[in-house]
Amino acid sequence: MARDGVLVVGSITADVTAFSRRLPQRGETVLGDDFTLFLGGKGANQAVAAARAGAPTWMVGCVGEDLFRDIVMDSLREHGVHTSEVRTVPGRTGVAHIRVDASGENDIVITPLANADLTAEMVDRSIAATQDRTRVMLLQLEIPAAVTRHAAEAGADAGFTVVLDPAPAQALPEDIWPYVDIVTPNESEATALTGSEVDGVESAERAARWFLDRGVRHALITLGGAGAVSVTRTKNSSAPGSEVTSHFPAFPVVPVDTTAAGDAFTGALGAALAAGLDNDLAVRRGMAAGALATTCPGASPSLPDLTAVSALLDTHPLLPVHPVPAPAHITEGATS
Ligand code: ADP
Repeated sequence: MARDGVLVVGSITADVTAFSRRLPQRGETVLGDDFTLFLGGKGANQAVAAARAGAPTWMVGCVGEDLFRDIVMDSLREHGVHTSEVRTVPGRTGVAHIRVDASGENDIVITPLANADLTAEMVDRSIAATQDRTRVMLLQLEIPAAVTRHAAEAGADAGFTVVLDPAPAQALPEDIWPYVDIVTPNESEATALTGSEVDGVESAERAARWFLDRGVRHALITLGGAGAVSVTRTKNSSAPGSEVTSHFPAFPVVPVDTTAAGDAFTGALGAALAAGLDNDLAVRRGMAAGALATTCPGASPSLPDLTAVSALLDTHPLLPVHPVPAPAHITEGATS
């Protein structure tokens, strides 16, 4: 069997969203204009993004024994995600409670509920059950940090390419980094994790090196409409410590809602890597998916499929990648 699939270990939530002209003041009640209930959670969003990008995709996570379980499970399946590794645990499915005003400003309370019950043993069983079909593992930070840490090590041991989207940013066990092949923070997550402001290409390169210094093989800092910065460091004996830095400009689109751009990016990147594409092509696929996700409102409903991603890539086949000269003390080498 081909090992061309993606294993996503992460959160599943029901996203309950109320839309009103303005957000209520503290203690105030306002009348709303609309309400939606969709599958959400960074893990589930990235699973949907990977499946829509064409990869056989398995979701590893927990849901509760309530009405929301059927809604999120049905939605995962409708988007083509395998749910054999989603476990039902006593209690309730995780919920994200979202409020959006007429200007698009929002606030969110995420209550993990069942997501807090995912264990290292469950992750091990899911790796064993799927590893003959999967080669890329996607991780985020909406499940217990110790489980993410365990999944990274177990994934690396099982020969996965381990991709960590460190969102929402939070302190992590320092020893997770050597198990991470690719890290994909946005500017604010890179700022929070590295402790120094990331607000453009130069500071993103500095942040990328922070991750590489801790053992990550490839740091990809996403910069919204400014694209992404990629820094890789090879560790082979012919070019010890060599480094390649590139700035990928964003695809020109007219954004209406940037929610889930990062999830579209990471899911499509994972799917492309699982299909055997090289790093640069996989980054471009991810960026095209991220750009397209900004052109539709919402999270999971805005995640593009492979046809849309390919069409955008075909429209911009020669979008240049700008190699950034490496600092003097580092030898430039090939990406691994
Ligand atoms: P997040 O949603 O995690 O904050 P970003 O906003 O950095 O992540 O978006 C991830 C990727 O999606 C970017 O690197 C970029 O390629 C693409 N993207 C995001 N916003 C835009 C935009 N306004 N125009 C074009 N591409 C975008």
